[in-house]
Amino acid sequence: MTWSYWRVPPFITSIFFILGVLTLYWVLYNWIVSVFHAHHIKVADDVINSWHGVLYMLVFVFSMQSLIIGQSDGWQFMNFQMIAMIFCAYFLNIHLPYYAFFPVVLIFMVFNQSLGYWESWGQAITMAVFFWTLNRSRHRYRNQKYAWVYYMGTGIGFGGLLWMWMKFKFSLPWSTYFQEWIYLTIFEALLYVYVTMLTNDSELKLRLAQFANHDALTKTQNYAAYSDEIDLLFADSHKNHLNLSMMMFDIDHFKHVNDTYGHLAGDRVLQQVAMITQTVIDENDDQVKFYRTGGEEFNVIFPGYDVESTASIVRQIFTAINHLDVKYEDQQIPISISVGVSGMVVADGGPADFYNRVDQNLYHSKRNGRMRITAN
Ligand code: GH3
Ligand code: MG
Ligand code: MG
Repeated sequence: MTWSYWRVPPFITSIFFILGVLTLYWVLYNWIVSVFHAHHIKVADDVINSWHGVLYMLVFVFSMQSLIIGQSDGWQFMNFQMIAMIFCAYFLNIHLPYYAFFPVVLIFMVFNQSLGYWESWGQAITMAVFFWTLNRSRHRYRNQKYAWVYYMGTGIGFGGLLWMWMKFKFSLPWSTYFQEWIYLTIFEALLYVYVTMLTNDSELKLRLAQFANHDALTKTQNYAAYSDEIDLLFADSHKNHLNLSMMMFDIDHFKHVNDTYGHLAGDRVLQQVAMITQTVIDENDDQVKFYRTGGEEFNVIFPGYDVESTASIVRQIFTAINHLDVKYEDQQIPISISVGVSGMVVADGGPADFYNRVDQNLYHSKRNGRMRITAN
């Protein structure tokens, strides 16, 4: 069988072409994100998405256009280029200021040898307004039930206008004009459905990951998250000879709180303790990490800190919690904590050795009257 037996109409080929381009986009994006995560490069996923999106689509648009520059059918790929632009403007919601849009369009026009055509200028201005309108539409209506109506309305309106410029420039017959406009509309709808399906899937994964790493009661990260992070930090600190310290605290006589005031009051205490600890950390250093590792046990990890340099934050957390009188219904519940602090040492063979020392220090505080800090 040779290629000439493939009697598939160009419209069908176009659909699979667009789906292929988008799928490749996602595969590459996931690969880049996993490489960044594996190397602990801290760039937000949506920043990667934006940059990757713009570069990928630019390569796509320019390389396609290079095949047909200056030819009498130089309009052939406009629908693909529109879809690439809509993807960046609406789905990636990239905000291009007008002064950034202008050079991109200008470079494209020089490249496409279309600077001398007034229709191409008309098209460029229409595209800029289209881009801006898509941005606005996304921003305003994205969470509304009828977001797709605004999207399709914008797409159909601007599609007709953009093909009008092409009709004049290439003296296209009306039949071609309407055919391409309808094709563009179908591609826009397809893009919407496809991207929505893909993002729903990744939002679900994100929610599951969030659920797996967080404690439902206090909204802090849980033991699973702690365990992953301490393994990573321990290995990294060991390899690069960096300091690493940890604080562990346990609420004193918490069983008594539950027995006296009830389990719901106990829950409220846990929430308040978590909240105040996070507030103290946020006020000091957002590199410090906080976890609920057990029922009424919490761990704070200090990357880059030796034991002495943790003293100020440890003391602030200790004081804040001990001064906390938790209100539940009409009652005031006084609470206190016992604390153990230690730093990683070269002799530690693994995170467990380090953890045990912190735990021993906490135990020492418990045995020596509670409501105290043991650090070494
Ligand atoms: P100590 O000062 O020695 O730490 O005494 P304690 O009573 O705090 O310690 P113990 O380990 O005997 O009791 C811990 C209690 O914490 C028992 C358990 O019912 C309670 N607890 C664990 N998780 C939760 C929770 O999510 N909510 C509530 N309300 N209580 C919890
Ligand atoms: Mg306790
Ligand atoms: Mg305990």
